[in-house]
Amino acid sequence: MTNWYSDYSKYAVQPMDINNLQQMLLKQREMLTGIGSVANEAAATVELDQTRVGRLSRMDAMQAQAMSIATNQRRRQQLRRIEAALKRIEDDEYGDCLHCGESIAPSRLRIDPAATLCIGCAEQAER
Ligand SMILES: [Zn+2]
Repeated sequence: MTNWYSDYSKYAVQPMDINNLQQMLLKQREMLTGIGSVANEAAATVELDQTRVGRLSRMDAMQAQAMSIATNQRRRQQLRRIEAALKRIEDDEYGDCLHCGESIAPSRLRIDPAATLCIGCAEQAER
C-alpha cells in the first residue's frame, strides 16, 4: 500500500487547497482584528484604573501594559504575515518559497497558511 498522502504533499499547492487556505487566512485575520480592539481597550483600562483607583502599584500596571503591548506587537506581526499571504494569493505567487522559489509543501501550508519559506529554508533560517 502506498502512502498517497506523503506522495501528494510533495507537489505544489493545488488551486482547491489555495481556496481552503485563503479561507483559513481570512478567518485568522478576522479573529486577530476582533481580539485587537478588545486588547486595546484592556490596555487603556489598566492605565485608567491605575490613576483613578490606584489599586495596582505603578510597577504592576506597567508590567501589565508591557505585556499587553508585546501581545499587540505579536498580533500585528501575525496580521502582517496574513495580509502578505493574502496578497500573494491575489498575485498568484502563493505557495512559493520567498527564499529559493521552490514550492512550499501543502502539508506545511495547512499548518501555517501564512508560511513564506519552504521547510528547508525555514530550518536554515532558524540556525
Ligand atoms: Zn526555500
